[in-house]
Amino acid sequence: MNLEAMVEKIGVYQPNTPTDLLEKAYNFSKDAHSDQARASGERYFVHCVAVAETLIDLRLDLPTVCAGLLHDVVEDTKVSSQDLKREFGEEIALLVEGVTKLETLRFNSRDEAQAENWRKMLLATAQDIRIIIIKLADRLHNMRTIHFLPCDRQERIAYETSSLYAPLAHRLGMFQLKSELEDLAFMVLHPKEFAELDAEIKAMTASRETSLARFKAVLESKLQATTIPHRILARSKSLWSIYQKMQRQEKNFREIQDAMGVRIITDSLANTYALLGLVHTEFKPVPGSFTDYISVPKMNLYQSLHTTVMGAQGELIEIQIRTEEMHRTAEYGIAAHWRYKMQEGSIDLHLEEKLNWLRQWIEWLQDLKSPREFLESLKTDLELHQVFIFTPKGEVKVLPAGATPLDFAFAVHSEIGMACIGAKVNNKMVKFDYVLKSGDTCEIVTRKGSTPKENWLTVVKTARARSKIRQFLREKGIVA
Ligand code: MN
Repeated sequence: MNLEAMVEKIGVYQPNTPTDLLEKAYNFSKDAHSDQARASGERYFVHCVAVAETLIDLRLDLPTVCAGLLHDVVEDTKVSSQDLKREFGEEIALLVEGVTKLETLRFNSRDEAQAENWRKMLLATAQDIRIIIIKLADRLHNMRTIHFLPCDRQERIAYETSSLYAPLAHRLGMFQLKSELEDLAFMVLHPKEFAELDAEIKAMTASRETSLARFKAVLESKLQATTIPHRILARSKSLWSIYQKMQRQEKNFREIQDAMGVRIITDSLANTYALLGLVHTEFKPVPGSFTDYISVPKMNLYQSLHTTVMGAQGELIEIQIRTEEMHRTAEYGIAAHWRYKMQEGSIDLHLEEKLNWLRQWIEWLQDLKSPREFLESLKTDLELHQVFIFTPKGEVKVLPAGATPLDFAFAVHSEIGMACIGAKVNNKMVKFDYVLKSGDTCEIVTRKGSTPKENWLTVVKTARARSKIRQFLREKGIVA
């Protein structure tokens, strides 16, 4: 992509933006990297442009795109942070500095290095989410060109991508980017399985697409009479998500029946439910398949209604129903909100609220001392399968799968967690190691003056509970 094309593409979503700074960043980066090449043999600058292009596709603001062009100059060339600040101003210099910081620290063991990278990355996120988005765009291009690297490095980078960057992209709701990262890592880490699945999908694509197109046409005709505004899109799952489902359900590819599905996009919240009603009138829903990620949202920004119905040929089709705004968020995640914020020219309180989990989480993580401990909590908290637990008053708490009543107690309030002496699930007393299931109603019994026990540490799954318990035990000198 050349400079003219970049300017044109930015003009689509940010009309009348002065682009002289972009031109300057473009030429500055080109000069700074002029004597460097990538493992592919291409000029290094190609990488910088690719990163900027991804940021433009995500419709990020101009300073972020400039920082994307410049993201490697401090690390890889003689240019200093001060140079950048002088040439491009504080905002762009800080973004580049944030990305550079994430790169530079090296640690002894693989686990420690990874834990420490995570911690730094999340602390950086708290300062400016755009730093992480640049980092994700950087990783995407590195993964797209990974086959030029030696095998051992490919594996290390792919492992890091699947266990660190893809879950983070997921958490930030950047679904497209997450799926591509996962599929690229899948290709490197499980080449045989990837090739087999890829071939199977290609072999079946034609018939699947025909049946999907047929279903879509039927659905369109059924919804024709309604005055509710809507459009219907066909979609297919990524290779990695199909593979995971096969593993989870111990099925082969042919048995995974909802590898394709449709989306219905409408204009308002009320109309998503209205359309769901129409769909369920026309098609038989599969019992237990309906999930409402609108009233009970996931821990990331994602919102939609999900249901699986049976088509005329007995095929199962997953249908997702959402508003245009939810759709934008599902595609671009946090980047969509950033864009919104820029256009409004004011702070998006809604987004701030949604980012609260991230801030709180970082606070708890700071209490954890060793990188290994940090890594363990992180793996559990990033586990994407979640359970929804109700308080006796009907409030919903979202917890990672495997969470126990103690995790729930600390999620409600740390004082309730600290003084917990027992728990009731669905009105029956349970042990502390009871594994909560979605839909459980959990009631915590407390006694004033009661305090955490050392064995709680072996029971809890969330960083929040672990950190609070450990902090208490440390203060009492019970654990180191
Ligand atoms: Mn880079």
